[in-house]
Amino acid sequence: MLESPQKSLIVSLHDAHPGSHAQIAEQVEFLATYGITRCSILVVPEFHHGGSLLKDRNFCDTVSGWQARGHEIVLHGYFHDRRESPPEKLSTLYCARLYTNREAEFLDLPKETARQRLERGRALFASLGWRATGFVAPAWLMASDLPNLIAEMGFAYTTRVGEIIPLLPGLNRIKSSQSLCYSTRAGWRRFASALWNKYLYGRLRETDLVRLSLHPRDLEFPLMRRQIDQILRASLKRGFHPTTYGDYVAR
Ligand SMILES: [Zn+2]
Repeated sequence: MLESPQKSLIVSLHDAHPGSHAQIAEQVEFLATYGITRCSILVVPEFHHGGSLLKDRNFCDTVSGWQARGHEIVLHGYFHDRRESPPEKLSTLYCARLYTNREAEFLDLPKETARQRLERGRALFASLGWRATGFVAPAWLMASDLPNLIAEMGFAYTTRVGEIIPLLPGLNRIKSSQSLCYSTRAGWRRFASALWNKYLYGRLRETDLVRLSLHPRDLEFPLMRRQIDQILRASLKRGFHPTTYGDYVAR
């Protein structure tokens, strides 16, 4: 990617679905108090096989409102679980069980199954007027050939935890940048996350891109909330400009 004089801050809100409606809405409001009104919101069509998000009109209206106000809506998996995934091999066991708590839906799906889920997700979004130019796999974990399939299907980009991958012809090349991201499942994980993100932010603030990925429960923990507040304040003070993934890859 060409060097840009502008420094960018991309905040992404992961795992939006009817069950996390209130938490994501709180995050959107929290960010707005910093003047951050452009985020990438990652929406799951049928979270954990719990039925289509279409069943919750209130949630759909909220998401449409976010898009109307300048946020980007991103397709984030289809089920966000591994219920119909192939049995785990030793090579995928770490990612599937330990790292993600069995949410790496697109880690090893057969290509045709992956294509069908992407098409279903995109059609669902289109029926609601949501422009899904990007796709992000649950836990950022994808089979190595999945970006090719996503590109074939016309998505503009995908991301991994360590990079942004533009997919349309003429877009800039892969941008390496590690996302800040918290693990909140246990006290020791929260403590380790805070140490890691403090270290990582110290490096990122010297670059031209800060990515901050939030999950629904992150603001519930005072340790996380304090650090997120510090990172946002410091980034804005240093001149990082809030944007979305879609706008970042298209510029
Ligand atoms: Zn997710």
